[in-house]
This record gives sequence, C-alpha cells and structure tokens, in this order.
Amino acid sequence: MRGSHLIACHDCDLLQQVPTVPAGGAARCGRCDAVLTRVIPRTFERTAALGLAALILLIVANVFPLLTLEIQGRLTHMSIVAGAWNLWLQGADWLAGLVFVTTLIAPALHVGLLLWVVLPLAGGRRGPAGARAFRWLQSIRPWSMAEVFMLGVLVSMVKLADLAVIVPGIALWAFAALIPVLAASMVTLDAEETWRTLAPEVPEP
Ligand SMILES: [Zn+2]
Repeated sequence: MRGSHLIACHDCDLLQQVPTVPAGGAARCGRCDAVLTRVIPRTFERTAALGLAALILLIVANVFPLLTLEIQGRLTHMSIVAGAWNLWLQGADWLAGLVFVTTLIAPALHVGLLLWVVLPLAGGRRGPAGARAFRWLQSIRPWSMAEVFMLGVLVSMVKLADLAVIVPGIALWAFAALIPVLAASMVTLDAEETWRTLAPEVPEP
C-alpha cells in the first residue's frame, strides 16, 4: 500500500518525505521541481496489455520478410535473422552478432521479462522471482535498440533506391510499431509501485 515514504530526488539527490499521491497525480521535488513519483492508474494492467502487443509485434517482425528487393526482375525476401546470417557468412561476425543481440535477443528478453513481471501483478498476485526479473529488465533495457536498427534500415533503403525496387515487408511495419509500443510500456509501468508490490517485506523508513 502507498503511504508516506522517503524518496531521493533523481536530479538533485535531496531526500524527502513524500505523502500519499492520488492515482493520476505526481509529487515534485521541493528543491528542483523534478518529478519524484507519478502514480499511473491501473499501471500493471496497461503495461501487461502493451507487453502482449509488443510480443505479437516482435514475433511478426522476426517471422515475416523485412524487405523485398527486386533486382533485374528477381525477387529477394530479406528477414532480420537472414540478414544477420548473411553478415556472418560474409565474415562480418562482430556486426552479425551485434545485429542479432540488439534486434532479436535484447528485445525478446525485454518483452519476456516485462511480461514475466507484470502479467502476475495484473492478475493481482506476485509471480515467482519477480523482483529479480524486474532488476534484469532494468539492465537489459539499454541493449534493446529497435529504433537504431530501424534507422539503419531506412538509411539503406534510401541508398539502395537507385539499384533496386524495394518493397517494405510486414516485418518492417511490425518493427516500426514495436518501437512506440515498447516505449509506451516503459511509461505506463510505475517502477515505484512495482518495487513496492514485489518486495513488500522490505520495511520502509
Ligand atoms: Zn530535486
């Protein structure tokens, strides 16, 4: 349950007593006016819904072709995994590994851990190892770089436009939709409330 508790300001480090904040409200730092905590109504249900949407988009993004190239009448379908595999075959193993980790492994772990944490919470109970999964989620997030990959695809589409006819595939649209959905899931997830629900046995000062 939410009560009066101590929060250190992220911006200026001032430790201050924060009273109970109503749903939809926010508490600001008394010194620098930064937002200390914002209470998002139905945070677990909203995040679970966005997490499930992200899971579907991620599957579509990896199963269907990303791009179709038409060079001299010949059609070539490219998927993310096939692209990384081709880089590997051409000897660019570091690059292939990087593409594989940042566009497949990290987003999959990101979505998986998010659902692991919020699905049980949305159902009103604590799942097994929820606190550990939430800690892992915080450390995996910087490696989930769907937007950087998307930028790279768009740049190569512009560069290749003179050489071949490029038809964006379903995976590209799914990938484009995945970026705002993942970002939204991080906005709707109230980290304070998550920690309070996952680790209620830690006594508050
Ligand atoms: Zn402050």
